[in-house]
Amino acid sequence: MLRDEDRIFTNLYGYQDFGLEAARKRGDWDNTAAILQNGREWIIENVKDSGLRGRGGAGFSTGMKWSFMPKNVTDKPVYLVINADEGEPGTCKDRDILRHDPHKLIEGCLIAGFAIGASACYIYIRGEFYNESSNVQRAIDEAYAAGLIGKNACGTGYSYDVYIHRGAGAYICGEETALIESIEGKKGQPRNKPPFPAQAGLYSCPTTVNNVESIAVVPTILRRGAGWFAGLGRPKNTGTKLFCISGHVNKPCNVEEEMGIPLKELIERHAGGVRGGWDNLLAVIPGGSSVPVLPKEICDTVLMDFDSLRDVRSGLGTAAVIVMDKSTDIVKAIARLSSFYAHESCGQCTPCREGTGWMSRVMQRMVTGNARMEEIDMLLQVTKQVEGHTICALGDAAAWPIQGLFRHFRPEVERRIQAYRNSAPLAAE
Ligand code: SF4
Repeated sequence: MLRDEDRIFTNLYGYQDFGLEAARKRGDWDNTAAILQNGREWIIENVKDSGLRGRGGAGFSTGMKWSFMPKNVTDKPVYLVINADEGEPGTCKDRDILRHDPHKLIEGCLIAGFAIGASACYIYIRGEFYNESSNVQRAIDEAYAAGLIGKNACGTGYSYDVYIHRGAGAYICGEETALIESIEGKKGQPRNKPPFPAQAGLYSCPTTVNNVESIAVVPTILRRGAGWFAGLGRPKNTGTKLFCISGHVNKPCNVEEEMGIPLKELIERHAGGVRGGWDNLLAVIPGGSSVPVLPKEICDTVLMDFDSLRDVRSGLGTAAVIVMDKSTDIVKAIARLSSFYAHESCGQCTPCREGTGWMSRVMQRMVTGNARMEEIDMLLQVTKQVEGHTICALGDAAAWPIQGLFRHFRPEVERRIQAYRNSAPLAAE
C-alpha cells in the first residue's frame, strides 16, 4: 500500500485550493529553476532512470520518448503537446489533475518542454471538460503573472509559452496524430506513421505528445529523485499510478496507489469492495474499455501493472478498472463497447470502418442468441483481420474486448445461441 509521504497528487480530491499559492504550499514550483539549470540531458536521463512509462495507455518509456526528439533544431519550432482528451470509457483520472492540481501539470509542461527543446506547449483538453479547462487556464495565467512561464521562465533565460486547445467531442482525437490534426484545424483523423511526430508532428515540426499524468508526475520525480520513484512498484513497472475504479463497487473512486498492487486489494481497500462481496464478482475490465475483460479467477490474484496484465492477455491501459458483478449481462456489456467503437471509427481505413460495424452488428445478435454457432469463429476471425491491420490502434481496441469475451465466456454465448434455437427453431434455421 502506498504510504502518504509517497503520494504525488496530494490534492486529488480538491480538498484544497488549486491556485498557485496553495500549490506552492504543496511543494509545486519549488526552485524549478534549479531543475532546469541541471540541463536537458540530466532531466531526460533522470526520467529514464525513474522507469516512468507513459500513463496514457501505451506504457512506453517517457524519457526514451523524449530522447527521440532531434537535437539542436534551429530552423523550425519544436512543440510539446499534452493529450488531455481523456475519452476512454471508465477513465477519469486526468480530469481530477486538471481541475484540482493544474499547477503540477503546468510545471511538468515547462520541464518537459525544456528537456525536448520546445518553445511552446499545447494542452489539448477534451471539449466536455469546461470547468477543468477554466482551472487550467487560471493556472496558466497565474504562472505567467509570476514569471514561471513565458519570457525568461523562472529567471532561467528560457522562453516558453503554454496554450490550451479545446477538443470537440471526438474519441479518436485522443490518438496522438488525430489530436495534432485537430489542433491544426483539420478533421481529427489519425496519420499514417512514419513519419512519427518526433520528426514531423504539429505543423510538420518536431513534436512530443504526452499524457497529462505522465507530465504531472515529472516535477516530483526530479525533486525527490529517480531512485525514489524507481523504488516504488515493481521492476520495469515503477512508481505510483492513478486508478479509476467504477462499476459494481460500493464506493467508486479515483485513487493513487503503488504500481503492481493486487487488483483485489485495490478494489477492497479503496472502493469498498465489490457489491455483494468478492464472491459476487463476475469480471473486471482492468484498463479502460480497450483491453480484454478478465474473469474472477484471474482477478483473484492479478497485479495491476503493465507486465502482469499483459501476461494474462489483458492490459493496464489507462488503469480504469471497470468492475462487473454477477448481475451483469457480460455479452451485452461487450456488445455495447463494440457499438461504441463502431460509432467512433473515423472511417478512413477499410478494416476498421467496415470491421467495427460488422463486429458490432454480430455482437448485438449474440446478445439474444440469434446467431449460428459457426458465427462465433467467423467473428473471431474478423477480429484478427482488423487487429494490427489499421492506421491507428482503434481497430485493435475494437477487436480485443470481443476476443477477451470469447476467451473467457464462450460457453455463455453458446448457451444463448442454443437456447434461441430451441425456442425458435424455424427462425434460427
Ligand atoms: Fe480511423 Fe479506425 Fe483507421 Fe483509426 S483504425 S484511422 S479510427 S478508420
